[in-house]
Amino acid sequence: MGKEQLVSWGFRAEPIMLAAGPCSAESEEQVVETARALAGQGIDFMRAGIWKPRTRPGSFEGVGEKGLAWLNAARAETGLKIGTEVAEPSHVEVCLEHGLDVLWIGARTTTNPFSVQAIADALKGTDIPVFVKNPMSADVALWMGAIERLANVGLTKLGAIHRGVSSSLEMRYRNAPAWKMPIELMRQMPDIPIICDPSHICGKADLIPAIAQEALDLLFDGLMVEVHPDPPNALSDAAQQLTPHQFGSMIRNLELTHEESDSSVFRNRLSELRESVDEFDSSLLELIGKRMEVVREMGRLKSEQKVSTLQPHRWQEILDDRVKRGEKLELSEDFVLQMMQSIHEEAIRQQEADRIGLD
Ligand code: PEP
Ligand code: MN
Repeated sequence: MGKEQLVSWGFRAEPIMLAAGPCSAESEEQVVETARALAGQGIDFMRAGIWKPRTRPGSFEGVGEKGLAWLNAARAETGLKIGTEVAEPSHVEVCLEHGLDVLWIGARTTTNPFSVQAIADALKGTDIPVFVKNPMSADVALWMGAIERLANVGLTKLGAIHRGVSSSLEMRYRNAPAWKMPIELMRQMPDIPIICDPSHICGKADLIPAIAQEALDLLFDGLMVEVHPDPPNALSDAAQQLTPHQFGSMIRNLELTHEESDSSVFRNRLSELRESVDEFDSSLLELIGKRMEVVREMGRLKSEQKVSTLQPHRWQEILDDRVKRGEKLELSEDFVLQMMQSIHEEAIRQQEADRIGLD
């Protein structure tokens, strides 16, 4: 999708954009050793965190400005472009002084429009490529807002990085993949190249290849992966970093997917199946519309009897029953809950619209 833009900004992005490198720059040897190991692997830029925004104080907070000189040494030796995360104007200033090739804004920073605006103001007048990670929560508007703030100061080389969102649910991943969020960003901002950071989604090295493949199946333009020469002894994010060797074999095993295929057999069959999906969707909408008519009738009855719109016991019964029915149809509990919650929310909106004259 965004490959042409990436190429016009001077990246090779062939066949996809690849950024790789340690979570944090730890020493000159570690940075240069990683760069050497990555130089032959066709990556577009080397990443390394210099200032680490940690959720809790007391963990390794990055080496600071001296790490930029190490990145420069790595670039001088290998020719790789170099990039790091900026979280405040002072970071931008020293990164520009050291001639970094790419910057990114981290998830915790994207969450705060004041911080993003301050960074945008510091970047005004430059045209360095800047990638914006999604915010910690599943808020596409906040993500778009950060990109817009950077665009508003005149930056034109803007990309996005999807790194999942935090969730209170127990799950396999450190951050929920929440794919509908980047899919919505692609829809609303089709000219913004978007890459996936499977490392921060997964939190564990062995889960990374599958999420990386899923990202390519969803038409992401590339990947940003944490790679460290000695992951178990990394000073940050030890569990999720790949060795350069593991990175190389993951990349070789990825299957590239395209939006279209030349096979007419495939295209004909797909269009038949799509027609049938269109029919199902139209029946679904009609059914939901009919359900809402009944719901409004119930609303009028409740209103006459001064009975509350929300009926907690009934609602609980509906959820339990629909989840059970869904299971028999191989529909996940999460999906059925979300779908029923959306339908219930609209039912309440319609009942209340009649009742108190909203709309
Ligand atoms: C990182 O890339 O090392 C990082 C801190 O990621 P995020 O902002 O996605 O948590
Ligand atoms: Mn990290």
